[in-house]
Amino acid sequence: MKWDEETEVLIIGFGGAGAVAAVTAHDSGAKVLIVEKMEKGGGSTNISKGGFLSLKDFAGGFRYLENLCYRVSRGVEPEMIQIYAEECLKNREWLESRGVRTHVYGGASFPQLSGEDSVEKRMITGPNSEDENAFWNFLRSRVESRNITVWYRSPAKALLTDSQGAVIGAVIQKEGKEKAVQARRGIILTCGGFEFDEWMKMNYLKGYPYYSLGTPGNTGDGIRMAQQVGADLWHMSGVSTLLGFKAPEFEAAFMIRPPSYRYIFVDQQGKRFASEFADIHAYNFLVDFFDPHSLRYPRIPCFLIFDEATRQTGPIGVTAIGYNRGRYAWSKDNGEEIRRGWILADDTLAGLAQKTGLDRTFLEKTVDRYKQSCQRGEDAEFHRPQDKLASLGPGPYYAVKLWPCLINTQGGPRRNAKARVLYPDGRPIPRLYSAGELGSLYGLLYQGAGNLGECLAFGRIAGREAAKEGLWGEKEG
Ligand SMILES: Cc1cc2nc3c(=O)[nH]c(=O)nc-3n(C[C@H](O)[C@H](O)[C@H](O)COP(=O)(O)OP(=O)(O)OC[C@H]3O[C@@H](n4cnc5c(N)ncnc54)[C@H](O)[C@@H]3O)c2cc1C
Repeated sequence: MKWDEETEVLIIGFGGAGAVAAVTAHDSGAKVLIVEKMEKGGGSTNISKGGFLSLKDFAGGFRYLENLCYRVSRGVEPEMIQIYAEECLKNREWLESRGVRTHVYGGASFPQLSGEDSVEKRMITGPNSEDENAFWNFLRSRVESRNITVWYRSPAKALLTDSQGAVIGAVIQKEGKEKAVQARRGIILTCGGFEFDEWMKMNYLKGYPYYSLGTPGNTGDGIRMAQQVGADLWHMSGVSTLLGFKAPEFEAAFMIRPPSYRYIFVDQQGKRFASEFADIHAYNFLVDFFDPHSLRYPRIPCFLIFDEATRQTGPIGVTAIGYNRGRYAWSKDNGEEIRRGWILADDTLAGLAQKTGLDRTFLEKTVDRYKQSCQRGEDAEFHRPQDKLASLGPGPYYAVKLWPCLINTQGGPRRNAKARVLYPDGRPIPRLYSAGELGSLYGLLYQGAGNLGECLAFGRIAGREAAKEGLWGEKEG
């Protein structure tokens, strides 16, 4: 084969996992090249909140993750969880020993699981700018200070294998030309999920449509490339999802978080269907119900209904994180969004029902029943937490369509504890590694900050292991 470029470790995708893998492979002595499809690096990592999973101690942390991934979500071998727990235990030190400070901002997403006390969500202490969060700023600068080469606007198109099936290079599109890049030690796939691949979302997720808060660069390329060399897939239906708003004029969706508790969610008839408070990553479970009689998803979209006091309290949309950061600033009084027609408004609930197509009687009864629950101090129907029960006050009233919006997709090529991508029979595909959201170990349930925790954990493992491979062509090939 004629090669246009040679490196030792080729990293496909310059987000969090790619950056950590690159730094580690470089520091382990390998020559590294990163290729990135978009004009800048960062992927979803840069527009995330920047929280990473950290553990206070191994025993409890392992127990929690084992409960989450093995007993509840199923399908992840304890050996894999053990490695993840061991590495998460090191995440804080790995960052802090490289010159940043971190602080705790949360804990276990599912406190009902044993071991929850040992789990903490941490973030790098420091300001986020419009361009970069502190987490990405740290990683990008560590790649740059090592002079690791990054090719931007250079999507990987396919993996190249030798006669034994070992992955020895990739076809990279650069400046309009296809280049064959040889990777003499290994390739690490770190090209994120499939948040912007309509076909994969239709086929692998329950509920439709799903929008995304993340980067449009993540279109499932790594999944297709890995499949073409025989990889097994896992966790394809695993997602982390909140409810958000999608405006046609923006590629990505907006996160919606009303600034007061005076709101409810209703389905397409105008009925409440769940407590409005779930773990922020698990809202898909509230809305992906398919009605086999009407043959519709009656909660996709569903509607956020709120009152005038809530409108006045502050913006209901969050633009400090997500792909729309720096692209749109939600107005303080929500006035601009009303003007744009994103938020529908009317003096009465009856008028709002007419504008939204909701059933007027159901909507009025729903608001009334919810008010009675608030007065009783107990939501007997849906068990909304007592301290979050607040009646809707006087109008005008407002409605926003809400869709499930992806924070991530977890699916992708299955990897093992050494970050090696596996064939369906469990054997590793020679010289192919992966890290990050592409083939995450999370399945049904997701622990907040787990993805960046995984970028750090498996980024380090993949970088280390790929750098250890012998040079292709010296013994093989
Ligand atoms: C609003 C928001 C908040 C979040 N907050 C958190 C949080 O606080 N903590 C947490 O753990 N997780 C969080 N997440 C999820 C987390 O950000 C992602 O799961 C994580 O950043 C994925 O990292 P990654 O390196 O795997 O992928 P990414 O950071 O998305 O990087 C993948 C890169 O690969 C590139 N790429 C894709 N295809 C190709 C190709 N063919 N060739 C070359 N390059 C390619 C993409 O352009 C992209 O730059 C959040 C996500 C969002 C959207």
